[in-house]
Amino acid sequence: FNLESITLNDLLIEVAEMSEKFSSRAIILNAERSIKAIADRSRLKRILINLIDNAVKYSEPDQPITLTLEQTDQQALIQVHDRGVGIPLHDQTRIFERFYRVDESRARFPLRGSVEQSSGGYGLGLAIVKTLVEGMNGSIHVRSKLGEGSTFTVALPRS
Ligand code: ATP
Ligand code: MG
Repeated sequence: FNLESITLNDLLIEVAEMSEKFSSRAIILNAERSIKAIADRSRLKRILINLIDNAVKYSEPDQPITLTLEQTDQQALIQVHDRGVGIPLHDQTRIFERFYRVDESRARFPLRGSVEQSSGGYGLGLAIVKTLVEGMNGSIHVRSKLGEGSTFTVALPRS
């Protein structure tokens, strides 16, 4: 890991522009101030691209994806929020495991047909994300409600 002081606002703009280009989805940025963290630039990009990729896959094309930057005393917080299918509570602790994917429990959910049929993956994204975040002395958690959407928060040490 190549840890350095990074202005997250600039990195988020870069990642949002790249993601918009590849996914044709609008990404909204929320940041009220300039926030810096100690992080590895290329790995942090990979983390955010993975989280945005999920947000794109598990929500409808007309729903916004938002990236929000906040800080607490000690930490810089990056939130990736979607208004998609959401994640059942009992799966929320397991999605960071290798190869774990939420499946049949969502069969009854009306969005499934349109969103999930084309969302093939190996269930590795979040396992990699978690390893990378923890490698930079950070943490990740999820808040989600079935049918309403999901918010993944990456917390990193402030600089
Ligand atoms: P991969 O990332 O390897 O291509 P994947 O996206 O299925 O495959 P993860 O990124 O590890 O795997 O996510 C694990 C599971 O968590 C997903 O299969 C999906 O069921 C659920 N999930 C992840 N992000 C979201 C989200 N934003 N909204 C709803 N469900 C999600
Ligand atoms: Mg994924």
